[in-house]
Amino acid sequence: MQPVGAGVPLRVDIAEKTFKSAEGVSVTALKELSFEVRQGEFACLLGPSGCGKSTTLRILLGLDRDFQGSFQMPVGGGNRTAVVFQEPTLLPWRTVEQNVRLALPKDMRGVDLDRLFKTLGLSDMRTLFPSELSLGLARRAALARAFATEPAVLFLDEPFVSLDEQTAERLRHLLLSVWSARPTTALMVTHNLREAMMLSDRIIVLSPRPAHVIGYFDVRLPRHYRNPQVMSDLLRSFHQKFPGAV
Ligand code: ADP
Ligand code: MG
Repeated sequence: MQPVGAGVPLRVDIAEKTFKSAEGVSVTALKELSFEVRQGEFACLLGPSGCGKSTTLRILLGLDRDFQGSFQMPVGGGNRTAVVFQEPTLLPWRTVEQNVRLALPKDMRGVDLDRLFKTLGLSDMRTLFPSELSLGLARRAALARAFATEPAVLFLDEPFVSLDEQTAERLRHLLLSVWSARPTTALMVTHNLREAMMLSDRIIVLSPRPAHVIGYFDVRLPRHYRNPQVMSDLLRSFHQKFPGAV
């Protein structure tokens, strides 16, 4: 039997989002931005810097209610959402494990996190404090915190920026491992095409500000087939379909 509401996508329909400064200057960040993410799909919102990606996530997270339009969240996972920001935002006076458990609803605080920590290579770091972690490890802890809640939808806002490429690549692989263990509807914001191509089922391509969708790029290939040769073919067909995008 299907759970009630199974198959409900993340549906976004933002007519407009305009920022007004105290001096009365308006900046329209989003205009007619509509898209869907199917349940269990990993989608990337890909667009140039400043086009309105973080603004979109803030709206979906309920952090900004001053916009015209609507959105609908997938159901399930206690209807929880989880988010990974650019900054790991860990509580400095709590250990890695405490940071993760504190993010859980009360009835889940005691769950077994061994597998999650193991998948993310954090088994030996559970008792460390954030100040003892490298930037890469802190971001892993932030991933653990987000996945531990088993959310209905996971948002990620450029979680691997300002890391060296080797660390970023390792984290992308870890993200895929932990996501594959329990595919969660995910929407990740990035301006890195290669990253989007490696991680996504579908890339949602945004225009420069004010952001709207200029098209979709479906990456139908299983992720383990996306070797360097295949990736360069995919990138070439992306550039043919979206010349000049990002
Ligand atoms: P992205 O995440 O795609 O780089 P943002 O969503 O952060 O872009 O910003 C989109 C546009 O909205 C930018 O021009 C930015 O300057 C503007 N903006 C974002 N937040 C605010 C704010 N709080 N007040 C005024 N303008 C803002
Ligand atoms: Mg941003």
